[in-house]
Amino acid sequence: MYEKETAFIEEIQNTYTQTGLSGIDLNTQFPLILKSYEKLLKQIKKITKVGDANQRKLLQAYNQIDEQKLKLDIAYKKLDQLARIDPLTGLSNRRDFLEKVTNEKNRFERDNKSFAFILSDIDNFKSFNDTYGHDCGDFVLQKVAEVFSNTIRKQDALGRWGGEEFILLIPGSDPDTAMKIGEKLRVAVTSNTYHFGDLALNITMTFGVSLYEGKSSIDQCIKAADEALYSGKQQGKNRVILYDDRMENDG
Ligand code: GH3
Ligand code: MG
Ligand code: MG
Repeated sequence: MYEKETAFIEEIQNTYTQTGLSGIDLNTQFPLILKSYEKLLKQIKKITKVGDANQRKLLQAYNQIDEQKLKLDIAYKKLDQLARIDPLTGLSNRRDFLEKVTNEKNRFERDNKSFAFILSDIDNFKSFNDTYGHDCGDFVLQKVAEVFSNTIRKQDALGRWGGEEFILLIPGSDPDTAMKIGEKLRVAVTSNTYHFGDLALNITMTFGVSLYEGKSSIDQCIKAADEALYSGKQQGKNRVILYDDRMENDG
């Protein structure tokens, strides 16, 4: 880049060594050197200008890349959120819920705090669909999600397990506390009347409760809650049942 400047310096050096100071005719040499120096300076200015413009362009391009990266990041996060949410109720879907369960299980391995599952199922849900139409069934699902969301504590995780089943994870829980939370949810759902157009609907639900204490797998534990729920249906629905070892032989 600096070939010209180097050549110029060499030229002066040569002139200097070849002629010696005494041999230089300053009156003729000086204007020539000055002229050639001015020319070089002009060229350097030009090159710097182009360099500055290129640097600005590069900076702009970097900024644009940063902006695009940010947009992509936001889009990715939105997509990830969508993949975790049940569109009808806005609750966590099974995948998202199970991820929360894994986090809780990891915490259990650190501090040994047991946690509970509450699996619940709307009683006679099919009749809402069959009698008043699928939209009414959807409305019932949305209402239950709303009541549950308003009843649980911040630390509890709630998800739609599938169909008309909802699942809860209650951290740091014992059977007594989990049963009380189940009962609170049952009463919250039952004590309301839900208005779908001109219709006034009542909803009841059955709940199965199980505890994770590190003795069996998460799958087995959720299955235990399901067995307790099944037992509740058998006993007449609209109740909360705690899993018991003896249930294994019934279901
Ligand atoms: P039980 O009291 O024993 O729980 O009986 P049930 O009628 O609630 O249960 P069943 O398993 O017989 O019926 C569940 C119905 O839920 C069948 C299915 O078509 C309906 N369903 C599943 N997902 C949805 C949904 O997203 N929207 C609506 N409207 N219905 C759904
Ligand atoms: Mg069901
Ligand atoms: Mg049902």
